[in-house]
Amino acid sequence: MAKTTKNYAELTPAEIKDIRDALDSFIAVTSDQFDACAEAVAAVAFYRLQRHPTWGRNATDAQKSVSYKHWKGVCHRCHKHVERGEAKFHHLTRGVPNQHVPSNLVPEHTSCHDDEHNVLYGSFDKGSPVSKKRKKTKIDNA
Ligand SMILES: [Zn+2]
Ligand SMILES: [Zn+2]
Repeated sequence: MAKTTKNYAELTPAEIKDIRDALDSFIAVTSDQFDACAEAVAAVAFYRLQRHPTWGRNATDAQKSVSYKHWKGVCHRCHKHVERGEAKFHHLTRGVPNQHVPSNLVPEHTSCHDDEHNVLYGSFDKGSPVSKKRKKTKIDNA
């Protein structure tokens, strides 16, 4: 019996706030437990949330290569060839299961990827686009 779980987009603002509060208390409790400052625990947590093999935010090189092959080296945005070494890998949706599979992870030229985020958020800040108009509760695409 598979349990249905909500995607990020299905969370209410109240649930997002509660999850954030739970994380704050996790950091505080862990900090006490290891007699480490909260900043040290946060550094470990941040690294883990980027790199965890299933729910981490960053695709691995292997996942990027699978995407590159799947899309036959074609940029998702301009539909021209992109070299593997130049390709940036864009997530169409964040906060969903299997987010690093080719159907959600697409190769793009660096400049196309910048455009993608500028169009979405009106910001040049790669990876963590933030605009004044945008709510901070919306997860960052990268
Ligand atoms: Zn392109
Ligand atoms: Zn992106």
